[in-house]
Amino acid sequence: MLLQISEPGQSAKPHERKLAIGIDLGTSNSVVATVRSGEPVVLADEQDNSICPSLVHYTAEGGVVVGQAASEKLLSDPANTINSIKRLMGRGVEDSASLGQSLPYTFTEKEGSGVPYISTVAGEFSPIEISSEILKHLAALGERSLSSGSASELDGAVITVPAYFDEAQRQATKDAATLAGLKVLRLLNEPTAAAVAYGLDKQAEGLIAVYDLGGGTFDVSILRLSKGVFEVLSTGGDSALGGDDFDQAIVDWVLNESAHAKTLEPVEQRALLLKARDAKEQLAGSHSTTIEFNNQLFELNRETLAEVLQPLISRSIKSCRRALRDADISAEDVDNVVLVGGSTRTLAVREAVANLFGQEPLSDLDPDRVVALGAAIQADILVGNKPDSDMLLLDVIPLSLGIETMGGLVEQIISRNTAIPVAKAQEFTTFKDGQTAMAVHVLQGERDLVSACRSLARFELRGIPPMVAGAAKIRVVFQVDADGLLMVSAEELTSGVKTSVDIKPSYGLADDDISRMLQDSFSHAKDDMKARALREQQVEAERVLEALVPALEADGDLLSEQERQTIVQAMEALLQTRQSAESPRDIEAAIEVVAQCTDDFAARRMDRSIKSALAGQNLDDIDS
Ligand code: ADP
Ligand code: MG
Repeated sequence: MLLQISEPGQSAKPHERKLAIGIDLGTSNSVVATVRSGEPVVLADEQDNSICPSLVHYTAEGGVVVGQAASEKLLSDPANTINSIKRLMGRGVEDSASLGQSLPYTFTEKEGSGVPYISTVAGEFSPIEISSEILKHLAALGERSLSSGSASELDGAVITVPAYFDEAQRQATKDAATLAGLKVLRLLNEPTAAAVAYGLDKQAEGLIAVYDLGGGTFDVSILRLSKGVFEVLSTGGDSALGGDDFDQAIVDWVLNESAHAKTLEPVEQRALLLKARDAKEQLAGSHSTTIEFNNQLFELNRETLAEVLQPLISRSIKSCRRALRDADISAEDVDNVVLVGGSTRTLAVREAVANLFGQEPLSDLDPDRVVALGAAIQADILVGNKPDSDMLLLDVIPLSLGIETMGGLVEQIISRNTAIPVAKAQEFTTFKDGQTAMAVHVLQGERDLVSACRSLARFELRGIPPMVAGAAKIRVVFQVDADGLLMVSAEELTSGVKTSVDIKPSYGLADDDISRMLQDSFSHAKDDMKARALREQQVEAERVLEALVPALEADGDLLSEQERQTIVQAMEALLQTRQSAESPRDIEAAIEVVAQCTDDFAARRMDRSIKSALAGQNLDDIDS
C-alpha cells in the first residue's frame, strides 16, 4: 500500500530492474508503455501497432480476439464485438439502460449482481471481464517486449482512469486488472499522468489545464500542483463528444456537398465514415486532401475542416470555461496547458485551445501516447527502479477516515484516495449543557454507520469548561504523513484544552478487506442513506427535547398553564415518534410541531436573558 523509500544513491543494478508498465486504458484506444534506459517508450505489437483499439471480439468457439484484429469484426459481427466497454465500468443495471442505447448489445442481469452483463455467442460477460481481456492483451504485449527471451512476469502496472471516475468505476478497473493477473501498483488519474509525462511534477507548484479529446469522449481537468501532489480542482467535459463526432460531421458535409438525397445503407455509411476519418487524420499533416464518394471527388482543406468542426470544438471550449469557473480560476491563471487525445492533432482544435488560454499548449509528446508514458514513469518509480528518486508523489489513503458523531453516524474527515501527506480539520461542538468531556472515536471505511466501519482508536478530550450546549468549539485535526501514519488531535479552542493520539491506519487491513469494505459501501449506499437520515432526525429530536427540559425548568414561569400543557404534549408526541418512526419525515414533522408551539416561549426567554445581560453590564459599569 505504501511507498518503500530506500536510501538515496542506491540505484537498482540493471539485472535487478523490475518489470513495470503503464497502461492507458482508453474508451476507443489503449496504449502500454514502459521506461527503458531511463526513457519512457510505448510498446508495439508484432505488427508494429502501438495503439490498440479497445475492442473485444468473442467467437462462437469461445475464443477472444482483442485490438486491431477485432476491428475487422466490428462491421461483420457487431453484436459480438464489444467497443467502448469503459463507459460501462462500475455502472449498475440502471445505467446500462441509458448508456446501452447507443450500443448494439443484448444486456442481461445476472441474478443479484446488479451489474449489467453482455450476451455474446461465447456466453455472458460483465464489463470487468471484458475490460480484463484488453488488459490481458496489453500485459502480454508488455511481457513479450520487456523480457529478453523467456517470458518473465511483470512486477506491476500503473493503470490510468479519468479524473472524474468514482469509487465504483475505479474499483471495477482495479478488479479488471486483478482478473487479468496484473499487480496494480496504483490507479493514476489520466490528466495527472499526462502532466507527469511532461515533467510538470518537477516544478514546485502551478496550475495545469489538461484538454483531452479522444475518440468518443472529451475531458478537461484543472489540476493544482503543490509540493509534489497533484490536486484535481475541477473536471468537466462531455461523454458524447470526440473524434467520432468529427468523422460524422465530415460525412454530413460530404452528403451535403454531393446533394445526396437517399439515406445510406449501414455498410455505405460505415465506409464513408472511415474515409472521413482518414481525411481528417491526413489533415493533421497536410493542408488539403480529397474524399471520394459516389464517383465524385470532394476537396477538403484545413479551412473547410475548421468550419465543419467549429460547433463541436466550441462545445469543448464551453466545457473548459465551466471547469475554470468550477476551479474558481480564470484562463490567464493557468501556467501550463497539456493536450491529450488523438483528436487534438487537428489544427483547429489546437488553435481554439491556444486561443482560450492565451498560450501555446504543450504538444511535443504524441497526444495519444502521453497518458501511457506518464503512467510508465510512475510505474517505474513505484516498482522501486528509482530508489534515489525523491518523488514521493501521489500516494493516497485507501479508505476514508472519520469520527463518530451523535446517533452512531460517521462524519468523514479525509475521504478515500486523498493524496498524502494531508491534514484536515473539522469543528465539532458539545451536545449537552455543561458537557466537560467529549469522546473521539476514529473510524475507517466508506459506510455512514459506525457499526459498518472499522474502529481505529478511541480517546477522550477532557477538561472542556462547562458551557451551554453548542458553545464549545472543538477542533479535530486528522493528519496523515507521507508514510501513511495518522495522528488525530482534538482541541477545545476557547480554553485550549488538547489531546492527541497516533494511529496506524494502513496496517492490519489486507487489500481483500479494503475491496470488501468498498464493495459493501456500494451495495449498501441506499440503505445507509436512509438509515443516516433517520438517525439524524432522531438526534435532532433528542437535541430539541434536551434543550427544552432545562428551559422549562428555568423559565417555565413565562408560560400560562395552557401554553405549558400544549408544549408538554408536543414534547411527548415527539418522544413517541422519535422511538417508533420508520421515516425521518415523521420525526421532522413532530419536531416542527414542537418548534411552532415553543416559538413564543423562545422569544420571551430571549427578552429575559437580554434584560439580565444588560443588568449585568450596568453592574460592571458601576464597578469600573
Ligand atoms: P481514447 O482516449 O478516447 O481512447 P484516442 O486518444 O486514441 O482515444 O483518440 C482517438 C481519436 O483520435 C479518433 O477519433 C481518431 O480519429 C483521432 N485521431 C487519431 N489521429 C488523428 C490525427 N492525425 N488527426 C486527427 N484526429 C486523429
Ligand atoms: Mg484517452
